[in-house]
Parts: sequence; C-alpha cells; structure tokens
Amino acid sequence: MKAIAVYCGANGGASSIYADAARAMGRALVADNIALVYGGGHVGLMGTIADAVLAEGGRVTGVIPQQLVDRELAHPGLTELFVVKDMHERKAMMASLADGFIAMPGGMGTLEELFEMLTWSQLGIHAKPVGVLNVDGFYDQLVAFLGHAGQEGFIQSRHQGLMKVSADPAALIALLK
Ligand code: AMP
Repeated sequence: MKAIAVYCGANGGASSIYADAARAMGRALVADNIALVYGGGHVGLMGTIADAVLAEGGRVTGVIPQQLVDRELAHPGLTELFVVKDMHERKAMMASLADGFIAMPGGMGTLEELFEMLTWSQLGIHAKPVGVLNVDGFYDQLVAFLGHAGQEGFIQSRHQGLMKVSADPAALIALLK
C-alpha cells in the first residue's frame, strides 16, 4: 500500500482529541511509508493531518477544486497539489491516486466521500479497502445504523464488513492491508 486517501473535516471539531488523532494518523502513515492523499486544504483536520505528515518527512498529495482554493486555503507546502475543475474531478482523482481510503471524523463532506468509496466498492468499481478512524467513538452511531440497515434487509451481509473500523491509526492501516 503506497498511498491512502484520508477524508476529514474542514473543521477541527469541538475537542482537541480530533486534532491529536489527525496527528497520530499522519505519524502512522509515515511510519508505514505510506503517502497521504487528501483534499489539499489548510483548514480543520485536513490541514492538521497534512502538516503532521510533512513534519515527519512524509509525502502529501492534495487535490482541490479551483473554487475551494481560497475557502479551504490551499496548502502551500505540499509535495504536490493538483487544482482541479470541480468536486467530481477531485473525488475521482483522489480515488485513483490512493490504494485505500480512511475517513477521520468530519461532517457531510467527509461522509459523502466515505460513502462514495463504500458504494463503489459494493458495486465492484474498485476493490480498494475502506475504513473509519473511530476517534473516541465518533462513528459508533454510524456503525450501529449500518447494522440496523443490514437487519432491515437493505445491506447484504457480504457487504456488512466493507467498512473497517478502529480507533487506532496503526491498527486501522493493518485492517486495510
Ligand atoms: P466536511 O466533512 O463537511 O467538513 O467536508 C470535508 C471535505 O469534503 C471538504 O474539503 C469539502 O470541500 C469536501 N466535500 C464536501 N462535499 C463534497 C462533495 N460533494 N464532493 C467532494 N468533496 C466534498
């Protein structure tokens, strides 16, 4: 596994545990010699994880739509930054550059990106692993909801395990492998 796309909030969250977790995730990637692919911004957890990987000497590729260059403060110090036309191009490029996908805590944008990769996996569009970093139980209710959707007959049992879950960055990378 050479590169992992990490989706994370453009906000930093209400507690410092989220930034701490983003830094730990960044360090775990570098320790495993895995490059970070992310949205290219310098705000919120996105900026925190990019800074952590760069500080450890790791590689970071950002992919940002032109219209978000100012709003998400395109990171000036990345190994490489691609400025693309729109969100669709961003997601497609991040998906093709990465060998696996991790969602950190985040909001609707993070969930949208997470679910696109899960559904593409379900449809066989890619066969790359997908996981969530369950910082302080952040994703517990989502895991429970997916279980409920499965029990109600909307998610096949063979797809139930597609979303890997761990609170520990190194353990999550190991699950993806
Ligand atoms: P959020 O989790 O809402 O803070 O958003 C995290 C990141 O997802 C930000 O960089 C947003 O620009 C991005 N984002 C939001 N919606 C989309 C979308 N539909 N496609 C791609 N990226 C998105």
